[in-house]
Amino acid sequence: MRVHGSCHCGHITFTSEAEPERTVVCHCRDCQVMSGGPYRSIVASDEASFELLSGELTIYHKVGDSGNGRELGFCNRCGSHIYATSEAGGRTARSLGLRTGVLAEAAEFVPKFQVWCDSRLPWVTEFNALPGKPKQ
Ligand SMILES: [Zn+2]
Ligand SMILES: [Zn+2]
Repeated sequence: MRVHGSCHCGHITFTSEAEPERTVVCHCRDCQVMSGGPYRSIVASDEASFELLSGELTIYHKVGDSGNGRELGFCNRCGSHIYATSEAGGRTARSLGLRTGVLAEAAEFVPKFQVWCDSRLPWVTEFNALPGKPKQ
């Protein structure tokens, strides 16, 4: 489905394709620290379908818990996180992990799976009914 996103200050707006069935919750430490919350909700989207409508994304480079280089796109005015993806220059088309909270259609993106359960905070119990795996 076509989704529409905006950062908190409105500098960044975009549209993309994303399917609610691909929504996951990530419990990795990076998501906890960078979001400031107990976990993060993410949906995969093909980079080719992503269209930046306004603003300019700032890219933060990090090495993920997986050991792979990652690029994180965010708004440098308000700090809202927009997506994470693999480092540019790879041979395959990239997948963007859109942060579902920035989507106008966020309510439709109900998590179907959870990853990095090894670092899940012990009091996060509402996800115990979802299937999961210890790492990525
Ligand atoms: Zn912003
Ligand atoms: Zn994560």
